[in-house]
Parts: sequence; C-alpha cells; structure tokens
Amino acid sequence: MITVLRMGHRQKRDERLSTHVGLAARALGADEIIYSGEEDRGLIESVNAVAQRWGGKFSARYDGNWKGIIKKYKKKKFCIVHLTMYGISLKKKIGKIKKNKKILVIVGSEKVPPEVYQLADFNLAVTNQPHSEVAALAIFLHEYFKGKELDKKFPKAKIRIVPQGRGKKVLEK
Ligand code: SAM
Repeated sequence: MITVLRMGHRQKRDERLSTHVGLAARALGADEIIYSGEEDRGLIESVNAVAQRWGGKFSARYDGNWKGIIKKYKKKKFCIVHLTMYGISLKKKIGKIKKNKKILVIVGSEKVPPEVYQLADFNLAVTNQPHSEVAALAIFLHEYFKGKELDKKFPKAKIRIVPQGRGKKVLEK
C-alpha cells in the first residue's frame, strides 16, 4: 500500500504540477494521493476522473491537516518517507525502505515545514540537486517497485491505449 501526501498545494500556482503528481503516482503504482495545502475541489475531481476512466483503484482526496495525516499513518505502521533534496541518498536507503509494505511518501511544493523532517522515518534525496516533486516521486516508485510498476494493469478501464509503433489507437467503452 503506497499513499502519497502532496504537501502545500497552492490552487493557482500548482494546479498543473499537483495534477501531474497525482497522475504519476497513479500510473507508477501508488494506491492513493492526499492533497494538503489549499483545498482545490477541481484538482481532486480531475485526478479522480482520470482514475475512473483509465481504470484501477487509485483515488485522490483532500485533507488540510498534514500533521494529523502523518501521525495517523505512523500509528497504522506506515513507513514515512519524505522526498527532499536535503536528505540521504535514495541508493543508500532504498534496501531498508523496501522491507516495508506500507509507505507514506511525502512530497512538497515550495517550502516544507521543519517538523516534516522530524516526523519522517527517512528524509530521502533523489540526488542532492534541486528538481521536481514529479521526478522525485517517479524515481522513488521505480526503485521501490524495481520496475514492475511499468507492467501494472488497470482493471475496469473505460479507455485503453493499444500500443503502436507509429500513430495512435485508443479503445473506448
Ligand atoms: N527547496 C525546496 C525544499 O524545501 O525542499 C525544494 C522544493 S521542490 C520545488 C518541491 C519538492 O520536490 C520538494 O519538497 C521535494 O519533495 C521534491 N524534490 C525536489 N528535488 C528533490 C530531490 N533532489 N530529491 C528528492 N526530492 C526532491
């Protein structure tokens, strides 16, 4: 079970990026995403609409109480992994993290409150260079699932792509 916590969403500035965090989480094997920061019903609806249409069991929801979420998931024995460029190399820690079946992965937007660093079991860096929450999450999930997420099936899809060397073929129910 992989839950992603997207911290500090700002409705105007982060609309596109927060959507992409949700879509990447879903496509690459996570089970749910919780958005914190500003409440944005359009964002939740658009991620859930994609999940409905493209199949699988992924869902998105909003909860403004990020500290409460982290504490709740800790109680439920989730391993809390905070992705940050200030952390320890993913390569050094991924082996230990993989031993956990339940993970709460936290990604930020602008500045992440210092308390998150304290509450996390792992502050994990996907390189110590600044880049993006989507890139960090994608690489984390790829390492965690050892590439198996690339073959993930999405049952009950209303729309499906038939892979083509050239051009597009899409089946819709
Ligand atoms: N200086 C900001 C900070 O406080 O960490 C960076 C913000 S960055 C635009 C947004 C998010 O992307 C971060 O909160 C983190 O989750 C993720 N991120 C960016 N670079 C990363 C890296 N090298 N390793 C892991 N996560 C990263």
